Amino acid sequence: MTRLLLIGPPGAGKGTQAVRLAESYLVPDISTGDIFRTNVKNETPLGKQAKAYMDAGDNVPDSLTNDLIRHRLEEPDAQDGFLLDGYPRTEDQVRELDEFLASHGAALDAVIELVADPDVVVDRLRKRAVEQGRSDDDESVVRHRLEVYREQTAPLIDVYAGRGQLVKIDAIGPIDQVTQRITSALAERGIAMPDAATR
Ligand code: AMP
Repeated sequence: MTRLLLIGPPGAGKGTQAVRLAESYLVPDISTGDIFRTNVKNETPLGKQAKAYMDAGDNVPDSLTNDLIRHRLEEPDAQDGFLLDGYPRTEDQVRELDEFLASHGAALDAVIELVADPDVVVDRLRKRAVEQGRSDDDESVVRHRLEVYREQTAPLIDVYAGRGQLVKIDAIGPIDQVTQRITSALAERGIAMPDAATR
């Protein structure tokens, strides 16, 4: 029963860490970015609505994103916990998530902030653009995404810090080391990985 959020600028390694944490804590890795990308690829109505925003590096409107996440969190696999990667990204999304959790008698265990210097992040994203060919990894779009993050998402960190839920992690370093930092910080807060016996 672990409910976690991963928050941090684009390129901080959220996706990479999310996969590992979801495996360790036995919860589904729910990435709104991945869900949107799949919808764009499959040319669904949602994908068609989201594509222009994503290509421009803007947030997809809250109404679409909140609908999507509400449905996803109602799925059976998310009832015993989840790891949200890339959601919430705006104050409106925080409100939506708060309401969802309250109406289900649930609460977040921790909000993990991946802290990374913007210059390092831009460099990482430049490499990812070459490796994965993501259309929103073009340099000017990347700079815009960082700006959107700074304006709309970074303020949420203070909200969660104020609630005593924030766990700040230095995201610069080898992947394994960053994972280790996260799991140790969570353990210090009493958030343990499920026992090997129950896996
Ligand atoms: P990500 O993979 O998290 O970097 O997301 C890629 C893109 O998907 C973002 O630049 C947004 O256009 C869109 N997106 C992902 N998550 C959200 C969200 N929570 N709210 C709005 N747009 C989102």
